[in-house]
Amino acid sequence: LGGKITRALQQMSNVTIIDEKALTECLNEITRALLQSDVSFPLVREMQSNIKKIVNLEDLAAGHNKRRIIEQAIFSELCKMLDPGKPAFAPKKSKPSVVMFVGLQGAGKTTTCTKYAYYHQKKGYKPALVCADTFRAGAFDQLKQNATKARIPFYGRYLKSIPLRRYEILRLSLYQPSSCMLRLSTKCILLFGLDSESEVWFSYTESDPVKIAVEGVDRFKKENCDLIIVDTSGRHKQEATLFEEMRQVAEATKPDLVIFVMDSSIGQAAFDQAQAFKQSVAVGAVIITKMDGHAKGGGALSAVAATKSPVIFIGTGEHMDEFEVFDVKPFVSRLLGMGDWSGFVDKLQEVVPKDQQPELLEKLSQGNFTLRIMYDQFQNILNMGPLKEVFQMLPGFSSEIMPKGHEKESQAKLKRYMTMMDSMTNEELDSSNTKLFNESRMMRIARGSGRIVREVMEMLEEYKKLAKIWGNMKGLKIPKNGDMSAL
Ligand code: GDP
Ligand code: MG
Repeated sequence: LGGKITRALQQMSNVTIIDEKALTECLNEITRALLQSDVSFPLVREMQSNIKKIVNLEDLAAGHNKRRIIEQAIFSELCKMLDPGKPAFAPKKSKPSVVMFVGLQGAGKTTTCTKYAYYHQKKGYKPALVCADTFRAGAFDQLKQNATKARIPFYGRYLKSIPLRRYEILRLSLYQPSSCMLRLSTKCILLFGLDSESEVWFSYTESDPVKIAVEGVDRFKKENCDLIIVDTSGRHKQEATLFEEMRQVAEATKPDLVIFVMDSSIGQAAFDQAQAFKQSVAVGAVIITKMDGHAKGGGALSAVAATKSPVIFIGTGEHMDEFEVFDVKPFVSRLLGMGDWSGFVDKLQEVVPKDQQPELLEKLSQGNFTLRIMYDQFQNILNMGPLKEVFQMLPGFSSEIMPKGHEKESQAKLKRYMTMMDSMTNEELDSSNTKLFNESRMMRIARGSGRIVREVMEMLEEYKKLAKIWGNMKGLKIPKNGDMSAL
C-alpha cells in the first residue's frame, strides 16, 4: 500500500499545475490502494471526500510541499477513523471485572484470551479464565493448556469417560470411529471413540455454556480475581444459534466489557462481520489477530467503524507474548508503509545498550547502508541479539530477511551470505556502491567462499533491497546529546 500511495503522490508532485483534476486523479489512485488493503468501500469514499475538503488547492498551488500536505491529510483521516472517540473499559485492580470474548471460530479467541490474561498478569492483575465454549470438543483442553503455561487459574468442564462392555465394542467398531461427537441437544453432547488399546469409551458432558460461564465467574469472584475472562464458542458462520448463545452468556455473566476478536485476514468481510456481532452483544472493544501474516490491516478500520469501539490490542503470532497494545499512529504509519518511527525508537531504547544507541542512530540517519552494516545486522540476527526485535518493526525488513515460518532456511541463507562477504575487501564492505562488483570480482568472491557467481549476484540483489528499506530512514533527526526521548 505504502508503495502505491507514495507513487500516486510522487506523480502529483511532478505535475506543475495542481488543479481539481490532478487532485482527483491522485485521490483515485490512493482510493484504489486503500481498497486493496481491505479498507471498506464506504470508508474509502468518506475519506476521499474529507480529504478534498481539507486539502486546499491554493495551498497546493502556492508551492507548498504538495506531497506532504496530502500525505498528512491521509494520515490524519485514517487516524480519525480508528478513533471512535471513547476509550474502552479498563479493568481496575480493586474490583472484579468480567471480560467476555466473542468472534467467529478460528478468529483467535482462545489464544487471545490467554494473551490478554497474561498481559494483565504482568501488570499486577489477578486474571482467571473461564471456558464457556462447549461447542468444540477440544476447547477446554486448549484453554487449560494455555492457562497452565501462563499459570493462570482456569475453569471449565472435563468430559467424563465411561468404558463400554465387549459386545458394545464390536457393535461400535463397525463405525470405526476414532472419535465421534453426537450432539443430543444444545445442552448435551455424547462423545465416543476408540483409544489406542481399542478400548471404547464414551462420555457425556454437561454442555450448557451459560451454566458453566456463571459457575466460573462466581467461583473466581469468590477467589478475589480482579479480571475474569470468559472465552465463548464461535461457529464457522454467523449463525443465529451462535448469537443467541452469546446473548445468553452475556446476560448471565453481565460482562463489563465484550471484546470482539477478528482475524485480520478476512479482508473486505470485516465490516459486515463486526456489525453482526455488535448487533447481538454490546461489543466495547476490538482485538485484531494474525497481524503477522499477509493481512493488510485495513479491516481494523472497518471493525472500528462497525462497532464504534476502539481496537485495543493486536495479535502478532501464536505465542503468548506476541501481543501488542494497539496504537493508532504507528499502525497507520505501517499501513501507509511509512515505517513505525515512534515504536522503533522506543524499542531501540529498550533493547540497545545506551552507549551504542547514538552510533546506531547516526548510521541510520545517514541512510548509507553498507555491506558491513548488513554483515553486522546478520550477525545480530543469528545471535538472536536485541536488534532483531528492533528491525522487525521496520516494514519489509523482517519479511525480507527472515520470513516467519522459514527461520531455518533464512538462517542458512544469512550464513551463506556472510561467508561470501568474508571474501570481500574492506573497500567493498564499507561502500554502498554495488558497481564495484564487476564480473571478475564476483568470480573471485564466489571462488573464495566456495559458492557460485549466481549466488553472489543473489546476495547483492538482497543487499539492494535492504539498502532501500534502510534508506527510508535517512533524515531521522538525532539530538546532538544522544537523548532520543526528544525524537
Ligand atoms: P478460536 O476458535 O477463536 O478460539 O481461535 P483459536 O484461539 O483456537 O485460534 C485459531 C488458530 O489461530 C490457532 O491455530 C492459533 O494458534 C492461531 N492464532 C491466533 N492468534 C494468532 C495470531 O495473532 N497470529 C497467528 N499467526 N496465529 C494466531
Ligand atoms: Mg476457542
